[in-house]
Amino acid sequence: MDLRWSDAEVVFRDDARDWLHAELATWRADHGGAEAIPSGDTRSGFAIHLDWERRLFENRWAVVSWPKAYGGREASLWEWLLFEQEYYAAGCPPRVTQNGIFLLAPSLFAFANDTQRDHILPRMAAGTDTWCQGWSEPNAGSDLASLTTRATRTDGGWVLNGQKTWTTRGAFSTHLFGLFRSDPDAERHRGLTYLLVPLDTPGVTVRGFGRLDGDEGFAEVFFEDAFLADDALPGGVTLGEPGEGWKVAMSTTSSERGLTLRSPGRFLATAERLIAAWQALPDGVRAERAALGERITEAWMRAEAYQLQTLQTVTTTVEGGSVGAESSLVKLWWSELDIELHECAMDLLGTGALFEGAWTKGLQFSLSGPIYAGTNEVQRNVVAERVLGLPRAGR
Ligand SMILES: Cc1cc2nc3c(=O)[nH]c(=O)nc-3n(C[C@H](O)[C@H](O)[C@H](O)COP(=O)(O)OP(=O)(O)OC[C@H]3O[C@@H](n4cnc5c(N)ncnc54)[C@H](O)[C@@H]3O)c2cc1C
Repeated sequence: MDLRWSDAEVVFRDDARDWLHAELATWRADHGGAEAIPSGDTRSGFAIHLDWERRLFENRWAVVSWPKAYGGREASLWEWLLFEQEYYAAGCPPRVTQNGIFLLAPSLFAFANDTQRDHILPRMAAGTDTWCQGWSEPNAGSDLASLTTRATRTDGGWVLNGQKTWTTRGAFSTHLFGLFRSDPDAERHRGLTYLLVPLDTPGVTVRGFGRLDGDEGFAEVFFEDAFLADDALPGGVTLGEPGEGWKVAMSTTSSERGLTLRSPGRFLATAERLIAAWQALPDGVRAERAALGERITEAWMRAEAYQLQTLQTVTTTVEGGSVGAESSLVKLWWSELDIELHECAMDLLGTGALFEGAWTKGLQFSLSGPIYAGTNEVQRNVVAERVLGLPRAGR
């Protein structure tokens, strides 16, 4: 195995690094400086972060691995990984377009028709249209197949009724990709349809609500006899065949848990910041706190291990393989690692960390990692049954 980057990859990485550092400074200055920029999970912050997305897009850094026709650079997956690493190492902000470009887009590449792709992908990459994920409902989370929001076929479209919840950035998004029950009589995994819904469709009401950290990061979305016309989007509003939404949804979740949503660059950058904070302590204090030093080293090693494991995943993908149920192991790894990195920072910096907004915000968000993208308890069931081949619980 050769873990060295090629000359072309090094050039790509250095270009990305130079551009990101320079443009990040400009963007921050244009919006009053880093401290003045609100979180992308607030209305005002979202608009400012869309300006960042626009800059990425105009310079072809928004979706590096996509075809050039959609605003990408046709970068390899290896280059995409390098870009991600540089992105987080530079301290660039969370991507407010992530649910579109990292979750929906891979499913569009797999299941959409050409007209859908040609219309949706460039607008998504530019941040012109922003997509949220409408899957969870008040009574359907882990057991997603129990969802009850209805899509009833009618002349020229679908009539939608029901409610979605926990819709990340739904309050600011223009479109929703959702799972709807289109055949209540079919077996529960079969009667589902994956629909692409403009949120300004009459009968759709979006109500934002706050998270524990105070940001309006979530929305509830209500459908009351909302008529979704087949031609509401060029190429149609159904992704995959009607009734086959579960198959499309499983492809989206494998992106969510596996490769695209949380690349190692994010955790490597946090680990490096943690190491820097540790090294800034006087020698005597480090000696007194050797046990914490061990934990920090361990957390850094886990971030490095995730990077190596991802190289393995990319190799498998490039060779035509797929990740499958093992993406659950990946999700367990990064979500638990994120908490440990932030808890180490809190132990290291004590109340000082509270004044460093990035650590506090990071800790708060890390605590939701074991819940979103499928809870960790459920991922452990998947690993037990589908990776290790153990019998199902209760049998
Ligand atoms: C930050 C964040 C962002 C999110 N963004 C979105 C979004 O954009 N779109 C969207 O649709 N949803 C989103 N969600 C919702 C998320 O997908 C759900 O919260 C998650 O699927 C769990 O569902 P639930 O909250 O209904 O909990 P439940 O499914 O009711 O689970 C409650 C508890 O029971 C446990 N449990 C359930 N079933 C089992 C089982 N079979 N075995 C063992 N334990 C079990 C769970 O692990 C959990 O601890 C988000 C959630 C968070 C925290």
